[in-house]
Amino acid sequence: MSTGKINVQTENIFPIIKKFLYSDNEIFLRELVSNAVDATQKLKALSSMGEAKGDLGDLKVEVEVDKVAKTITIRDKGIGMTGEEIEKYITQIAFSGAEEFVQKYKDKVDKNVVIGHFGLGFYSAFMVAKKVEIFSLSFKEGSRAVRWECDGSPEYTLEDINTKTTRGTDIVLHIADDSEEYLDNYKIQGLLTKYCKFLPVEIKFGTKKDHVKKDGEEKETEVEVDNIINNPNPAWTRKPADLKDEDYKAFYRELYPMQFEEPLFHIHLNVDYPFNLTGILYFPKLTNKFEAPKDRIQLYCNQVFVTDNVENIVPDFLTLLRGVIDSPDIPLNVSRSYLQADGNVKKISSHITKKVADKLEEIFKKDRADFEKKWNDIKIFVEYGMISDEKFYEKAVKFALLQNTDGKSFTFEEYENHVKGNQTDKDKRLVYLYATSTDEQHAYIDAARNRGYDVLLMDSPLDSHFINHLESKLKDTSFVRVDSDTVEKLIKKDDGMPSKLTDEQQKQVQPVIEGVVPKEKFTVVFESLSETDAPMLITRPEFMRRMKDMSAMGGGMNFYGSMPDMYNLVVNSNHPIISKILAETNADKQKQLAKQTTDLALLSQGLLKGEDLTGFIKRSVDMINSSN
Ligand code: ADP
Repeated sequence: MSTGKINVQTENIFPIIKKFLYSDNEIFLRELVSNAVDATQKLKALSSMGEAKGDLGDLKVEVEVDKVAKTITIRDKGIGMTGEEIEKYITQIAFSGAEEFVQKYKDKVDKNVVIGHFGLGFYSAFMVAKKVEIFSLSFKEGSRAVRWECDGSPEYTLEDINTKTTRGTDIVLHIADDSEEYLDNYKIQGLLTKYCKFLPVEIKFGTKKDHVKKDGEEKETEVEVDNIINNPNPAWTRKPADLKDEDYKAFYRELYPMQFEEPLFHIHLNVDYPFNLTGILYFPKLTNKFEAPKDRIQLYCNQVFVTDNVENIVPDFLTLLRGVIDSPDIPLNVSRSYLQADGNVKKISSHITKKVADKLEEIFKKDRADFEKKWNDIKIFVEYGMISDEKFYEKAVKFALLQNTDGKSFTFEEYENHVKGNQTDKDKRLVYLYATSTDEQHAYIDAARNRGYDVLLMDSPLDSHFINHLESKLKDTSFVRVDSDTVEKLIKKDDGMPSKLTDEQQKQVQPVIEGVVPKEKFTVVFESLSETDAPMLITRPEFMRRMKDMSAMGGGMNFYGSMPDMYNLVVNSNHPIISKILAETNADKQKQLAKQTTDLALLSQGLLKGEDLTGFIKRSVDMINSSN
């Protein structure tokens, strides 16, 4: 037996490592199991080159919890290590990595730095163990088995042993008192499922010892939990040509067992130049609610789970997708701010963006009807992408759809051609009319359509932003909501028709109408509309409404947000009812007539409620009753 002292300047580095990495200490299992998998893969590679002789036998990696001994063992049948190799790889290299880490970070509280970067994988064991043993037998012929032990101080022991007769390495963690939660079967099973679900070598969660109460006495007992926890050949590592649609769907369920809806379609990513990237992205059905994604894209590095928080790694709008990205080229073990600036990460992002746009275009071209059917489920995604990513916009502008209130879909180009004849104003600007609800704005949609105008339905939660964005992109085009003005003025083509009422007469009626509506909410304006248009209308200027919308979405326009809702009460000076109100000499009757007409306008905008609505109905009944 030999003892040694690890050559580091810093005494007791482990308490420091432990403190820094505390929030993430569960990753010890990922680090140790992936070391075991690496050792197994190396053996397979050596064997295929003829450098490891004979049948390799069972190569499963085993993880075992022993509650009685308070240990967790990670066992592999890989290449193993000789005594010299342990000296070199475990004590020297890894310790110097540990020291570098401590020197660099002891004064900083940057918890984003993750272990592997410093070759600290193995030492993450000390985050949960008070003592670690390695039992190893190298695959090299004539090797002797060795045992290494270290309690976290820079001192360790290394000795030859006869008790290990099978090739490979057992890492035995003697769990520290404050980490006994890791002796729980479900805890370990959960961690294995999280981090090791797709590791390329089979992983068995093995037999463990536990205490069981029998006849009032605590007894030791062996419990079989002999299951393979991973799928070593996940779909993304296979060739697209070997996979059927069913296989992709099955893999989706494997990734998201709690997700019952099927994905709409998928993209199989496979890049090997100028960086390595594989993966499968799925388009889920996106509801109209704009919610933070729960089942998220998972990021892997050579089949080792790294994170499902891919923010800053892929563009924001892509986080609405689901699936897997696997790349050895993303520097996974460094902080996020570093990631954002990394050149490879940027290239990967723009590659994914391009692939996603290409896929959408492909479906659009191949089967337009199918694309239109799926549109409502992907609309938010496409709009979000177009708003936030210039490159995506350039591609998506060819297949993004606008839908009108009849449910007909148009590409941008088709829509321009569809409306330019009738919806160009006197300044040669195209005016796209839109509604946000076919129910609430029904009367206005109807009026616009009677004029031969087309009305778009823009009812997604992103649409107000999307409209702003399109106005900045599309040439000479404005969007105007159907209820933002009277139908005559929505698209200003000429200077309008003459008014029947003189200015003098308008001044006479104005106070009567103002007397029946709350002043702070309504501004009474006269307009000469057609006789067949409604006698009165409520409109809300486009500018005012957008300011309100923006402040509701947290756009900082608080001044407008705190203003009361303001409407225009437009009085059609050419309508016979207005002349009738003017001509009425009985003040009570005049008021009643004005009130009834105003209420009708409010009713069509959904603004007549409660007591006012009840009063209106009662008056209507009385009026019908008295007019025989
Ligand atoms: P990394 O895996 O990033 O190289 P680690 O600290 O996890 O850093 O491991 C250091 C080295 O120890 C590995 O590169 C490998 O050579 C050796 N090693 C660790 N675990 C095993 C194992 N189970 N079998 C064989 N060699 C191992």
